[in-house]
Amino acid sequence: MAVERTLSLIKPDATKRNITGAICKMIEDAGFCIIAQKRVKLTYEQASRFYAVHKDKPFYDEVCVIMSSGPIVAMVLEKENAIADYRTLMGATIPSAAENGTIRKQFGESVDKNSVHGSDSAENAEQEIKMFFNELEIIG
Ligand code: ATP
Ligand code: MG
Repeated sequence: MAVERTLSLIKPDATKRNITGAICKMIEDAGFCIIAQKRVKLTYEQASRFYAVHKDKPFYDEVCVIMSSGPIVAMVLEKENAIADYRTLMGATIPSAAENGTIRKQFGESVDKNSVHGSDSAENAEQEIKMFFNELEIIG
């Protein structure tokens, strides 16, 4: 399996509850290296660009409002098979459907407060990482 990089975001619902350290511990305990990390706050426009893939969905406006409602922690994670493995570690989008041992099972409160984001393909990982980090900020 190839070593991959993926973008992880700790969402505003989680930064508000002061659980960023607990989430990072789960990520590191699962074997991911955090090779870039910053705390940022998106504008509504930046969140809209980030979630543009969902622009025709009924929840688009709501998810953009939520993602720009407070600070987020953006990270680049590196590991073999990082993209799929981080999706597995996050768990299902709806926290009540997430498997035991996943971040969303442990910390997610609802579909719109599900605590974390993870890239869903190699192409999106590359694009999303570029939205948050330049080359100098990624130290593998
Ligand atoms: P993310 O992209 O945040 O990692 P995901 O890939 O599991 O989550 P997506 O289908 O990409 O899920 O949806 C993006 C986000 O939009 C979800 O994380 C969730 O917060 C929100 N969302 C998805 N479906 C709904 C819905 N039916 N109602 C409200 N919000 C939703
Ligand atoms: Mg998604």
